[in-house]
Amino acid sequence: MTELPSPGPRPGEPPSRSARRLLLVHAHPDDESINNGVTMARYAAEGAQVTLVTCTLGERGEVIPSELGHLAGAALGAHRRHELAAAMGELGVTDFRLLGGAGRYQDSGMMGLPDNDDPGCLWQADVDQAAGYLVETIREVRPQVLVTYDDHGGYGHPDHIQAHRIAMRAAELAADPSVRPELGAPWRIAKVYWNRVPRSVAEAAFARLQEELPGLPFDKSADIDDVPGVVDDERITTEIDGTAHAFAKAAAMRAHVTQIEVAEPCFALSNELAQPLFTTEYYELVHREGAAGRQHAGERETDLFAGIEEAS
Ligand SMILES: [Zn+2]
Repeated sequence: MTELPSPGPRPGEPPSRSARRLLLVHAHPDDESINNGVTMARYAAEGAQVTLVTCTLGERGEVIPSELGHLAGAALGAHRRHELAAAMGELGVTDFRLLGGAGRYQDSGMMGLPDNDDPGCLWQADVDQAAGYLVETIREVRPQVLVTYDDHGGYGHPDHIQAHRIAMRAAELAADPSVRPELGAPWRIAKVYWNRVPRSVAEAAFARLQEELPGLPFDKSADIDDVPGVVDDERITTEIDGTAHAFAKAAAMRAHVTQIEVAEPCFALSNELAQPLFTTEYYELVHREGAAGRQHAGERETDLFAGIEEAS
C-alpha cells in the first residue's frame, strides 16, 4: 500500500484561496469522473480550486476484473480510495475528501436491497447530521459553485439521492449564521447545479453506439434510462465543452479499475452494457444568488462561474 495523498490542507495550514472555487458532492468513487471528469480537469487546469466530497467508499460496488473479485466490503472501500486518488491525479485535482472522514458512511447498495437497512449506510444517515460535515467544508472552502445530483439522485440509487439531500441541505445550513457558528463564518453559495444530459444528446449518442458496437468489446448497449440525469433539452442551462480534457476524463475513469471498463468512445459498468462517454458535460442551474449567472433566454452558459465576481 502506498501512502495516500493528503485529502485537504493539514491542520493549522491555511487553505490556498483560489479566486474561483468549485465544490462537487458525489455518492461513490467513480461518479465524479463519469459525471464531471472534463469539468473538474478544466477548472483544475485553469487554476480554480476544485474540491470533491465523496460520501461513501462504494463498499458494495460490483467488481469487474476477476483478479480483483475477492475484494468486498471494507477491503473494496480501501481499494476504491486508492482508485479515487489515482483518478484525481489524472484530473489534476488535489483536494478530495470523504464526508465525515473515511468509513463514516457506507455504501447503501442498490435500492430495495436489505443493505439499505444497515445502520452504518448513507441511506440511514440523519441528513442534518451528515450535512453538518459538509457545512464545515463549505465554510472553509467558500465555494461559489456547487455541483450535485437532482432529487432522484440522477437514477434512483439511494446513495445518490442522499448525496443530493445532504448537499442541498448543507448549502442552506452553511449560509445560516445561527447554525453551528463554531464551524466558521456563514457562506452563501452563489450557484447550485445538478448534473444533466440533454435527451437529444443521449439519443444521438446511443444511435451512434449501435453502429459502433460491433467494433467494441461489449456485446450489448445500455439504454437511455441507464444514463443518470437525462432531461428534456430545454432544462439544460450550461454546457462545458471538454474536448481539451477528454483524454484526462477517460484516464480518470480507467483509474476506477474495479468499476469501469473504458473503450472509447464508450464505457461499461459491471453490467457490461456499453454507454457513451460524454466529453461535453451538461448542467441545470437550479439556484443562484442575486444576478450571478443570469442568462439570456435560450442561451446556454459555457462557464459554471459565469456572472460571478472574481474577488468574492
Ligand atoms: Zn454512484
